[in-house]
Amino acid sequence: MSGEVVLELRDVTRTYGEVHALRGVSIRVRRGELVAVVGPSGSGKSTMLNVVGTLDRPTSGSVSIAGTDVGAVPDDALSALRAEHIGFVFQHFHLQAGATAAENVADGLLYTGTDRRQRSERAVAALERVGLGHRVDHRPGQLSGGEKQRVAIARAVVGEPTVLLADEPTGALDTASGATVLALLRELNAAGTTVLVITHDLDLAASLPRQVRMRDGTVEDDSASDAPSLAAAIGVGR
Ligand code: ADP
Repeated sequence: MSGEVVLELRDVTRTYGEVHALRGVSIRVRRGELVAVVGPSGSGKSTMLNVVGTLDRPTSGSVSIAGTDVGAVPDDALSALRAEHIGFVFQHFHLQAGATAAENVADGLLYTGTDRRQRSERAVAALERVGLGHRVDHRPGQLSGGEKQRVAIARAVVGEPTVLLADEPTGALDTASGATVLALLRELNAAGTTVLVITHDLDLAASLPRQVRMRDGTVEDDSASDAPSLAAAIGVGR
């Protein structure tokens, strides 16, 4: 079973003035993968995730998502592309304080052409999926850190994106809540969601099927880089 390539970066660079945040990153991710992105602070992990998530454009090189070359998509069409294909989870949740859990999750369906009532129904279903069916009317201030992150994950997946991008999703959580959040990401992945997760936690990364290690704006090591030839050599697909 050789999964379709849902994400491809080819020789991507990103400079901010004098700073070379990415210096030629190439990576391919297939549907259904769960990939850990690791590396020291400043190595370009967040920049790569932002480029993948179409929040930022490369200085050179190309990014393609589900077969669409992002470079060919005009700025005013990017939010629709993002709404269809990308779900984001951040370290500090980025929930709206004045909105309920259900309203926060429903926001994940803005720009998808889903009507208000359906947004609301699907938000409740997504909250049930992350184990928060009893918290739909709670506001972020009434939720624990782990619960807030589960709301953020529900918001990220409510539109069934092609790829879920998580930037240090357990970084602001205690160990137990972090483990719950990680278990949830694994569960979503097992159900078919492709996941890229940035983490500082090397044990966590080692427990995931693939690790991409970044350093100084380049991919220093990719545990999957030899896999296609190895798989071909032993006669199995991936
Ligand atoms: P990581 O996520 O691995 O910590 P980042 O992608 O955040 O690394 O940063 C890579 C480099 O790019 C760092 O040197 C950082 O200071 C720089 N950088 C990131 N974003 C910006 C920006 N918006 N403006 C200027 N420099 C930036």
